[in-house]
Amino acid sequence: MDQTKTGRFIKEQRKQTGFTQRELAEALNISEKTISKWETGNGMPEVSLMLPLCKKLNITVNELLSGEKLDEKHYIEKAEENIVSLASDRTKPITKTVIAAVSCILSILLSMAIVLTASFVEMPSWARIVLISAAFVLIFCNIALVLVVAVNTEIFTCDKCGEKFVPSLSAYILGPHTFLRRYLKCPHCGKRSWCRSRIRKL
Ligand SMILES: [Zn+2]
Repeated sequence: MDQTKTGRFIKEQRKQTGFTQRELAEALNISEKTISKWETGNGMPEVSLMLPLCKKLNITVNELLSGEKLDEKHYIEKAEENIVSLASDRTKPITKTVIAAVSCILSILLSMAIVLTASFVEMPSWARIVLISAAFVLIFCNIALVLVVAVNTEIFTCDKCGEKFVPSLSAYILGPHTFLRRYLKCPHCGKRSWCRSRIRKL
């Protein structure tokens, strides 16, 4: 699925059916900003909004996901592609994020328990040092895990050529960054620039 293509298609169909962004937003009971986000390729309509949106735009969900009008010949072919792409888009990042969140919470609880034990239970000081170091190692692993998940859920757009890419973990960690951009080398054009970050659709 190509978010940008779908966005352009939504815009095209909206104009063809004679809606302004505001009118379409009102008809769907959502904000104008959401429509503009879809149209610029910065987000896909939620599943619950797909049918009502398609009805307003006189298109099918299959066409929405394909980002173009489909003739009979290509309809089934595209539908199969879209189903596979939806399925793979949705399962992977969610599983990773859930696993990361659960292990994050568990290890925070565990390191708190270790620190408490080390502070309040009578024990030789070497044991205290071992326990507290263990807690630090746990916290460190946790941070590493969160970073790995972060780099896997973020996708960057090159400022020079506009291509999207996922950087390596080390480039991601070492790259200077602001809230929305990170200074990275693009694997497509090889130039360094402040690349726009976007969360991959979960
Ligand atoms: Zn580039």
